[in-house]
Amino acid sequence: MPQPVLLSDIGKVLIDFDFSIAARRLAEHCDHPAETVLTLFDDIKGPYEVGDMDDVEFVRQGMVRTGFRGSPAEFAVIWCEIFAQNEPMHATLGALAGRLPMHLLSNTNELHKGYFLREFAIFQHFQGGVYSHTARCAKPGDEIFLKTAEQLDLDPARTFYIDDLEANIATAARLGFRTFHYSFEKHSQLQAELDEWLAAQGIG
Ligand SMILES: [Mg+2]
Repeated sequence: MPQPVLLSDIGKVLIDFDFSIAARRLAEHCDHPAETVLTLFDDIKGPYEVGDMDDVEFVRQGMVRTGFRGSPAEFAVIWCEIFAQNEPMHATLGALAGRLPMHLLSNTNELHKGYFLREFAIFQHFQGGVYSHTARCAKPGDEIFLKTAEQLDLDPARTFYIDDLEANIATAARLGFRTFHYSFEKHSQLQAELDEWLAAQGIG
């Protein structure tokens, strides 16, 4: 019998990210300006996030496209050092630890996933997750939500789903999940709705 579960997106919910940091650092190692260097990744980010391209190939293509002057390891570090933990969310989830299962659902890639799971304590609160690059499909499509529900044995009606993107929230809501459209400014509203939902689920 599925129990109440918290399911969360990652970027702009658990951790903030700022690709302009990577853009500035890339620009220091190639002949493209920070303002446009990221456009060189436009058509490889998608295939990388759904697992059609592996880490080695992504880094190789990124280095060739930008004319990167450095090693693959240096390129990977610049690609990954764009995140910062959401401290209010870390506190909220810390208070919930052990009271209900918590899982992740993210459009991401292997380099970023490895980096943020290793770097940030907020991920200690989670028991598992589904990621686009290994699920081979991405939000906001239905498929990744259906796979997540099946793999994690979720009842959408008893699953509180948090995401910052309207399109992802729309899919989740249509599939019957209890949703919250998050932004850092709305954290206290999330806390209030989560407390109310937990009480309704019998989790005091
Ligand atoms: Mg997000």
